[in-house]
Amino acid sequence: MELIDTHCHIDVEAFDADRDLVLKHSREQGVTRLVVPAVDAAHWSSLLDLCREKNGLYPALGLHPVYLESHKAEHLPALERVVEKHRPVAVGEIGLDYFVRGLDHERQQRLFEAQLEIARNSDLPVILHVRKAHDRVLSTLRRIRVKGGTAHAFNGSLQQAQQYLDLGFKLGFGGMLTYERSNKIRGLARQLPADAIVLETDAPDMAVSVHHGERNSPEYLPYCLQSLAEVRNELPEDLARQTTENACAVLHLDEYLV
Ligand SMILES: [Zn+2]
Repeated sequence: MELIDTHCHIDVEAFDADRDLVLKHSREQGVTRLVVPAVDAAHWSSLLDLCREKNGLYPALGLHPVYLESHKAEHLPALERVVEKHRPVAVGEIGLDYFVRGLDHERQQRLFEAQLEIARNSDLPVILHVRKAHDRVLSTLRRIRVKGGTAHAFNGSLQQAQQYLDLGFKLGFGGMLTYERSNKIRGLARQLPADAIVLETDAPDMAVSVHHGERNSPEYLPYCLQSLAEVRNELPEDLARQTTENACAVLHLDEYLV
Protein backbone atom coordinates (compact mmCIF):
# COMPACT_ATOMS: atom_id res chain seq x y z
CA MET A 1 0.00 0.00 0.00
CA GLU A 2 1.34 3.40 -0.97
CA LEU A 3 -0.01 6.71 0.33
CA ILE A 4 0.81 10.30 -0.59
CA ASP A 5 0.57 13.08 1.96
CA THR A 6 -0.45 15.92 -0.35
CA HIS A 7 0.01 18.65 2.27
CA CYS A 8 2.74 18.34 4.88
CA HIS A 9 4.95 21.05 6.42
CA ILE A 10 7.80 18.65 7.18
CA ASP A 11 10.29 21.51 6.61
CA VAL A 12 9.25 23.47 9.71
CA GLU A 13 11.16 23.75 12.97
CA ALA A 14 8.79 21.38 14.77
CA PHE A 15 10.51 18.54 12.89
CA ASP A 16 14.12 19.75 13.22
CA ALA A 17 14.97 17.35 16.03
CA ASP A 18 13.67 14.13 14.46
CA ARG A 19 12.81 14.73 10.80
CA ASP A 20 14.68 11.67 9.50
CA LEU A 21 12.97 9.44 12.01
CA VAL A 22 9.54 10.84 11.11
CA LEU A 23 10.24 10.19 7.43
CA LYS A 24 11.43 6.67 8.21
CA HIS A 25 8.30 5.92 10.26
CA SER A 26 6.16 7.40 7.49
CA ARG A 27 7.74 5.15 4.88
CA GLU A 28 7.20 2.16 7.16
CA GLN A 29 3.50 3.11 7.22
CA GLY A 30 3.40 3.28 3.42
CA VAL A 31 3.53 7.08 3.24
CA THR A 32 6.25 7.20 0.61
CA ARG A 33 5.68 10.64 -0.90
CA LEU A 34 4.99 14.03 0.68
CA VAL A 35 4.14 17.35 -0.96
CA VAL A 36 5.71 20.19 1.04
CA PRO A 37 4.02 23.59 0.49
CA ALA A 38 5.81 26.81 1.37
CA VAL A 39 4.31 29.62 3.41
CA ASP A 40 6.73 32.51 2.89
CA ALA A 41 9.73 33.59 0.83
CA ALA A 42 12.17 33.24 3.73
CA HIS A 43 11.77 29.44 3.67
CA TRP A 44 11.81 28.72 -0.07
CA SER A 45 15.48 27.87 -0.34
CA SER A 46 15.64 25.63 2.74
CA LEU A 47 12.47 23.89 1.58
CA LEU A 48 13.99 23.26 -1.86
CA ASP A 49 17.23 22.00 -0.28
CA LEU A 50 15.30 19.58 1.94
CA CYS A 51 13.28 18.22 -1.00
CA ARG A 52 16.50 17.69 -2.97
CA GLU A 53 18.14 15.93 -0.05
CA LYS A 54 15.40 13.46 0.86
CA ASN A 55 13.62 10.92 -1.27
CA GLY A 56 9.93 11.34 -1.87
CA LEU A 57 9.59 15.03 -0.96
CA TYR A 58 8.01 17.35 -3.53
CA PRO A 59 8.20 21.13 -3.11
CA ALA A 60 5.48 23.71 -3.73
CA LEU A 61 6.44 27.39 -3.60
CA GLY A 62 4.22 30.31 -2.75
CA LEU A 63 3.06 33.00 -0.32
CA HIS A 64 0.42 31.88 2.21
CA PRO A 65 -2.44 34.37 2.83
CA VAL A 66 -2.24 34.07 6.63
CA TYR A 67 1.34 35.39 6.60
CA LEU A 68 0.31 38.52 4.70
CA GLU A 69 2.38 40.77 6.97
CA SER A 70 5.67 39.06 6.10
CA HIS A 71 5.15 39.25 2.32
CA LYS A 72 6.73 42.16 0.42
CA ALA A 73 6.13 43.46 -3.10
CA GLU A 74 9.47 42.09 -4.30
CA HIS A 75 8.48 38.55 -3.27
CA LEU A 76 6.19 38.23 -6.30
CA PRO A 77 8.89 38.71 -8.97
CA ALA A 78 11.13 36.55 -6.76
CA LEU A 79 8.50 33.80 -6.80
CA GLU A 80 8.28 34.02 -10.56
CA ARG A 81 12.06 33.54 -10.85
CA VAL A 82 12.31 30.72 -8.33
CA VAL A 83 9.38 28.88 -9.93
CA GLU A 84 10.94 29.14 -13.39
CA LYS A 85 14.33 28.04 -12.12
CA HIS A 86 13.30 25.16 -9.84
CA ARG A 87 10.00 24.02 -11.34
CA PRO A 88 8.22 22.96 -8.10
CA VAL A 89 5.22 20.60 -8.39
CA ALA A 90 2.84 23.46 -7.68
CA VAL A 91 2.49 27.10 -6.68
CA GLY A 92 1.35 27.02 -3.05
CA GLU A 93 0.11 27.35 -0.66
CA ILE A 94 -1.91 30.30 -1.83
CA GLY A 95 -5.51 31.44 -1.40
CA LEU A 96 -7.85 33.50 0.73
CA ASP A 97 -8.46 33.30 4.47
CA TYR A 98 -11.51 35.23 5.71
CA PHE A 99 -11.53 33.32 9.00
CA VAL A 100 -8.43 34.81 10.62
CA ARG A 101 -9.27 38.33 11.70
CA GLY A 102 -7.29 41.35 10.58
CA LEU A 103 -6.13 40.04 7.20
CA ASP A 104 -7.04 42.66 4.62
CA HIS A 105 -9.27 41.02 1.99
CA GLU A 106 -8.19 43.17 -0.94
CA ARG A 107 -4.49 42.69 -0.22
CA GLN A 108 -5.06 38.95 0.00
CA GLN A 109 -6.92 39.07 -3.30
CA ARG A 110 -4.11 40.90 -5.10
CA LEU A 111 -1.53 38.47 -3.73
CA PHE A 112 -3.69 35.49 -4.72
CA GLU A 113 -4.31 36.72 -8.26
CA ALA A 114 -0.66 37.53 -8.87
CA GLN A 115 0.29 34.00 -7.80
CA LEU A 116 -2.41 32.42 -9.95
CA GLU A 117 -0.94 34.30 -12.89
CA ILE A 118 2.51 32.94 -12.08
CA ALA A 119 1.04 29.40 -11.94
CA ARG A 120 -0.80 29.90 -15.21
CA ASN A 121 2.24 31.32 -16.98
CA SER A 122 4.38 28.45 -15.71
CA ASP A 123 1.74 25.83 -16.52
CA LEU A 124 1.71 24.58 -12.92
CA PRO A 125 -1.13 23.49 -10.63
CA VAL A 126 -1.78 25.31 -7.35
CA ILE A 127 -2.25 24.26 -3.73
CA LEU A 128 -5.08 26.27 -2.21
CA HIS A 129 -5.65 27.39 1.36
CA VAL A 130 -9.26 28.60 1.64
CA ARG A 131 -11.25 29.49 4.75
CA LYS A 132 -14.68 31.11 4.61
CA ALA A 133 -13.90 32.36 1.10
CA HIS A 134 -14.81 29.57 -1.33
CA ASP A 135 -17.12 31.62 -3.53
CA ARG A 136 -14.57 34.39 -3.99
CA VAL A 137 -11.81 31.83 -4.69
CA LEU A 138 -14.01 30.01 -7.21
CA SER A 139 -14.92 33.18 -9.08
CA THR A 140 -11.24 34.15 -9.17
CA LEU A 141 -10.30 30.69 -10.49
CA ARG A 142 -12.87 31.08 -13.25
CA ARG A 143 -11.21 34.34 -14.32
CA ILE A 144 -7.61 33.17 -14.03
CA ARG A 145 -7.52 29.60 -15.28
CA VAL A 146 -4.77 27.39 -13.92
CA LYS A 147 -3.91 23.75 -14.43
CA GLY A 148 -6.03 22.59 -11.47
CA GLY A 149 -4.51 21.57 -8.15
CA THR A 150 -5.75 20.79 -4.65
CA ALA A 151 -8.08 22.61 -2.25
CA HIS A 152 -6.37 21.72 1.00
CA ALA A 153 -8.41 20.77 4.11
CA PHE A 154 -11.60 21.25 2.15
CA ASN A 155 -14.48 22.54 4.25
CA GLY A 156 -16.92 24.03 1.76
CA SER A 157 -20.29 22.77 0.56
CA LEU A 158 -20.99 19.92 -1.84
CA GLN A 159 -21.95 22.48 -4.49
CA GLN A 160 -18.66 24.32 -4.04
CA ALA A 161 -16.82 20.98 -4.16
CA GLN A 162 -18.42 20.29 -7.52
CA GLN A 163 -17.26 23.66 -8.83
CA TYR A 164 -13.66 22.92 -7.80
CA LEU A 165 -13.89 19.55 -9.55
CA ASP A 166 -15.15 21.25 -12.70
CA LEU A 167 -12.08 23.51 -12.58
CA GLY A 168 -9.73 20.49 -12.42
CA PHE A 169 -9.14 20.41 -8.67
CA LYS A 170 -9.06 17.59 -6.14
CA LEU A 171 -10.19 18.09 -2.55
CA GLY A 172 -7.87 17.44 0.40
CA PHE A 173 -9.08 15.51 3.45
CA GLY A 174 -7.06 14.80 6.57
CA GLY A 175 -7.12 14.67 10.35
CA MET A 176 -10.63 16.13 10.69
CA LEU A 177 -12.00 12.90 9.16
CA THR A 178 -10.88 10.99 12.23
CA TYR A 179 -13.18 12.94 14.57
CA GLU A 180 -16.68 11.53 14.92
CA ARG A 181 -18.11 15.01 15.47
CA SER A 182 -16.86 16.19 12.02
CA ASN A 183 -20.26 15.58 10.47
CA LYS A 184 -19.90 18.04 7.64
CA ILE A 185 -16.47 16.87 6.48
CA ARG A 186 -17.43 13.22 6.86
CA GLY A 187 -20.61 13.83 4.88
CA LEU A 188 -18.60 15.39 2.06
CA ALA A 189 -16.08 12.55 2.09
CA ARG A 190 -18.97 10.10 1.80
CA GLN A 191 -20.75 11.87 -1.04
CA LEU A 192 -17.89 12.90 -3.29
CA PRO A 193 -16.74 10.59 -6.06
CA ALA A 194 -13.60 8.67 -5.08
CA ASP A 195 -11.59 10.30 -7.87
CA ALA A 196 -12.17 13.73 -6.24
CA ILE A 197 -10.29 13.02 -3.01
CA VAL A 198 -6.65 13.35 -1.97
CA LEU A 199 -5.30 12.64 1.50
CA GLU A 200 -3.21 15.03 3.58
CA THR A 201 -2.08 15.56 7.17
CA ASP A 202 -1.18 19.30 7.22
CA ALA A 203 1.42 18.23 9.81
CA PRO A 204 2.49 19.56 12.26
CA ASP A 205 -1.08 20.97 12.53
CA MET A 206 -4.51 19.26 12.69
CA ALA A 207 -3.60 16.06 14.55
CA VAL A 208 -5.68 12.92 14.12
CA SER A 209 -8.05 12.03 16.97
CA VAL A 210 -5.83 9.38 18.61
CA HIS A 211 -3.01 11.94 18.80
CA HIS A 212 -5.20 14.90 19.66
CA GLY A 213 -3.24 17.82 21.12
CA GLU A 214 0.09 16.41 19.93
CA ARG A 215 2.27 17.35 16.99
CA ASN A 216 0.71 15.91 13.85
CA SER A 217 2.90 13.76 11.62
CA PRO A 218 2.79 12.29 8.09
CA GLU A 219 3.17 8.85 9.69
CA TYR A 220 -0.45 9.23 10.91
CA LEU A 221 -1.87 9.47 7.38
CA PRO A 222 -3.12 5.83 7.54
CA TYR A 223 -5.56 6.94 10.29
CA CYS A 224 -7.10 9.36 7.80
CA LEU A 225 -7.30 6.59 5.21
CA GLN A 226 -8.96 4.30 7.77
CA SER A 227 -11.59 6.92 8.62
CA LEU A 228 -12.22 7.62 4.94
CA ALA A 229 -12.74 3.89 4.36
CA GLU A 230 -15.18 3.66 7.29
CA VAL A 231 -17.13 6.73 6.24
CA ARG A 232 -17.43 5.49 2.65
CA ASN A 233 -17.79 1.83 3.56
CA GLU A 234 -15.02 0.90 1.13
CA LEU A 235 -11.78 -1.03 1.46
CA PRO A 236 -8.73 0.96 2.66
CA GLU A 237 -6.54 -0.68 0.00
CA ASP A 238 -8.89 0.48 -2.77
CA LEU A 239 -8.98 4.02 -1.41
CA ALA A 240 -5.20 4.03 -0.96
CA ARG A 241 -4.76 3.14 -4.61
CA GLN A 242 -7.38 5.65 -5.76
CA THR A 243 -6.19 8.61 -3.67
CA THR A 244 -2.56 7.97 -4.65
CA GLU A 245 -3.58 7.91 -8.29
CA ASN A 246 -5.55 11.14 -7.78
CA ALA A 247 -2.58 12.91 -6.17
CA CYS A 248 -0.20 11.79 -8.92
CA ALA A 249 -2.61 12.89 -11.62
CA VAL A 250 -3.49 16.33 -10.29
CA LEU A 251 0.05 17.31 -9.25
CA HIS A 252 1.76 15.42 -12.11
CA LEU A 253 4.12 13.85 -9.58
CA ASP A 254 5.41 11.25 -12.00
CA GLU A 255 6.73 13.98 -14.30
CA TYR A 256 8.59 15.78 -11.52
CA LEU A 257 12.37 15.92 -11.88
CA VAL A 258 14.40 16.61 -8.74
ZN1 LIG B 1 -0.56 24.22 5.04
